[in-house]
Amino acid sequence: MQSHTAYCSACDQDVRVVITDAPTHDGQAPLADAQVVCLDFAARCTGSMCPMFGLPRILMGVRLAQSGLRPDAFDTVSAPCPACDTPVELQMIDDQHVFCPSCGARSKWVKMQVGDHDYVALATVGGE
Ligand SMILES: [Zn+2]
Repeated sequence: MQSHTAYCSACDQDVRVVITDAPTHDGQAPLADAQVVCLDFAARCTGSMCPMFGLPRILMGVRLAQSGLRPDAFDTVSAPCPACDTPVELQMIDDQHVFCPSCGARSKWVKMQVGDHDYVALATVGGE
C-alpha cells in the first residue's frame, strides 16, 4: 500500500491519499486495479465529484469505508442493515447514504423528526 499527499482543490488543502494493493486471487494476476482512497474524505467534501480523481464523491466515501483505514472518519448509527438484517453500526458516508461494514451494502437513510424524537429510516439501494 502506497501513501501520498496531494493537494485537493475542493478542500483547498493537502489530503492523504492511499493506493491500495490490487486484490489477487490464488497468486494469479490481479483481478482488479489498485484503488485510490482519500483518507481525508469528510463532510467538507461537498461537491458531487471528487476533483482529484474524477470520481463521484459517494464512491470515494464507500471506498474509504470499505478500506477500513479510517473507521473514525464516519459517524455511525446503530440499526439493522436493510440489506443483510444484521444489527450493525452503519457508517454514515454522507447525508443520504450509509455503509454496512458487515455485508458491504450501501443504503439510503433519511432522518425524520417526530415530536421530540429523531428517527432514521433506511432503504436499500443497488451496488455501485
Ligand atoms: Zn449489511
